[in-house]
Amino acid sequence: MITGPSGVGKGTLIHALQDHLPQLQLSVSATTRSPRPGEQDGVAYHFLGRDEFARRVVAGEFVEHAEYAGNSYGTLRSELDGRLDAGIPVVLEIEVQGARQIREALPEAVQVFIAPPSREALRERLVGRGTDPPEQVVRRLETADDELAARGEFSYVVVNDRLEDAVAQLLEIVGRELGDDESAASAQYS
Ligand code: 5GP
Repeated sequence: MITGPSGVGKGTLIHALQDHLPQLQLSVSATTRSPRPGEQDGVAYHFLGRDEFARRVVAGEFVEHAEYAGNSYGTLRSELDGRLDAGIPVVLEIEVQGARQIREALPEAVQVFIAPPSREALRERLVGRGTDPPEQVVRRLETADDELAARGEFSYVVVNDRLEDAVAQLLEIVGRELGDDESAASAQYS
């Protein structure tokens, strides 16, 4: 699983990782947040209403779920079940509270925290990408302080300064984990 603050470049890094390791499949999360322009339901996220999200929480359909910047996000068991059974490695792109839950449920999961080179660099990225309204940028930066304080909990920390360097580090970590430890690929959650 790949975690770290919003705007740090998790999505970009995962895409680059998949270019090199096409066997990696991305888990499509569920969220109550509204789609951004260009985001397709079932591709970027499974976009759910609040009631539907809550119903699925009660029904036990999530491996993990969390509130983040005013919305709910979660990983559906259906995204993992068949793939893990088949030994297909799955990548989760999630925030820190969810990552903690995955650590409990799936202790074999490879845990990577992506850190920005500085808080200022993170702010510039969040503002510069222009995907979130100003009040969301503020909320995300406030949350980032807590998230950055949690980096020591994760087995691997990759600083996303130069993209190529971060991709190379990530490839090294994931390649090693998948190659040396079959359990990373075939892990079962409890
Ligand atoms: P965004 O709204 O920018 O797409 O996502 C906000 C944050 O939620 C990001 O840090 C993203 O990684 C995280 N996130 C996306 N999907 C999930 C999920 O399934 N579970 C959790 N816990 N966080 C998620």
